[in-house]
Amino acid sequence: MKKIPFFDGHNDTITQTLPQKLSAPPLFPLGTPQTHIDAQRAQQAHYLGSLFAIFIEADDEEEADSADYRTASNQLIMPPPLDPRLARQRTDAIFAQILRAERDPQCPWRIARTYDELQRNMQEERLSLVLHIEGAEAIDFELNSLELYYQAGLRSLGLVWSRPNIFGNGVPFERPGNPDCGFGLTPAGRRLVRRCNELGIIVDMAHLNEKGFWDVAKASAAPLVVSHSASYSMAPSARNLTDAQLRAIADSDGIVGITLHVADLRPDGQYNPRRGLEYFMEHLSHIAEIIGIDHVGLGSDFDGACMPEELPEVSKLPKLLDAMREAGLSEDDIEKFAYRNWLRVIRQTWH
Ligand SMILES: [Zn+2]
Repeated sequence: MKKIPFFDGHNDTITQTLPQKLSAPPLFPLGTPQTHIDAQRAQQAHYLGSLFAIFIEADDEEEADSADYRTASNQLIMPPPLDPRLARQRTDAIFAQILRAERDPQCPWRIARTYDELQRNMQEERLSLVLHIEGAEAIDFELNSLELYYQAGLRSLGLVWSRPNIFGNGVPFERPGNPDCGFGLTPAGRRLVRRCNELGIIVDMAHLNEKGFWDVAKASAAPLVVSHSASYSMAPSARNLTDAQLRAIADSDGIVGITLHVADLRPDGQYNPRRGLEYFMEHLSHIAEIIGIDHVGLGSDFDGACMPEELPEVSKLPKLLDAMREAGLSEDDIEKFAYRNWLRVIRQTWH
């Protein structure tokens, strides 16, 4: 049987590999034996590319103090805003480390900055890093840093993580919850979307609330992208997409990457890996039924979430292909899901 490669909409392996300290060691090789992904296991699974998230966490003590963002039972549902100076400083440091690592001739991966580079890397079976910032706190109001990060290789931007910033509002970690919460994009958020369109940067709406989603749908000229999410009608997490949102993604010829995060796949919202692959397949069949297989891909969230028991890390990904074959999908449809849809959206968005 033909070996099918994967292109993934989201992982947090950079965040798991690099301690969030400015003096961290170089990002080489990628991952560790403890992370869900490392360069060697990615190669074995034919995992040949992904949007690799650069994600900045607030310092623990800042989060611990913010009672406003906690439920009565002290559960953190909405992290507080992140200090943009901290975000900028740490994002710069991570970019510098990635660029230094890439210059090493032994480096097993490459940053993909153009569609041709991405295709060439896949043909040579070399792992592509598509640099993605998850949560735009490091981007200033004037969008000056966007220009610099673009030159450094940024090709995808998540407007928000699950917290507010100057561009828009994220959804809380509520299960059950509702994506329709809070205000939409700010005027700066709409400018950011248009500038990303002009530069050829993917605008990722994962973690964005529903009003923000519709604002992007109106403002953006590019295919709509949600890199890691699932179906709200199958599992009522505030992170998931309603059927109307899914249809809008398809109408724009965009893509939703289905997450492997069990808490967003399970109707009960539990962090419980049991039967995770079954839940994933139920979301896949529901989403493909209403918007077609052309608009669905993988959005694993490896190294950032709770994985199904059957897919605890990247080397087990071929089990997902087996599950799709068992569910009766054609080889052509499996290839679309595994990498071709993501490549199409990237080709249409980058220029
Ligand atoms: Zn995320």
